Amino acid sequence: MQVCPVCGSMELYYEAGGVEGLYHCKNCGYIGSFIVEANEEMARLIREEYENKGRNTAL
Ligand SMILES: [Zn+2]
Repeated sequence: MQVCPVCGSMELYYEAGGVEGLYHCKNCGYIGSFIVEANEEMARLIREEYENKGRNTAL
C-alpha cells in the first residue's frame, strides 16, 4: 500500500493537473511526488513517529 511519508496516512489522492502530478495527503496536508510504499507495520511506525513529533512540538 502507498502511504504519506510524513504521517503514514493512506488518505492520499493523486493530483494529475500538473506536469508530473503530485500526491496530496488529506490527513497532514503533505503535497509532493514522493510517497512511501509500505506494509501495515511500516505505516504504523510512520504514524507513531508523526504523533511523537507532534507531542514534542507541543512541549
Ligand atoms: Zn500525511
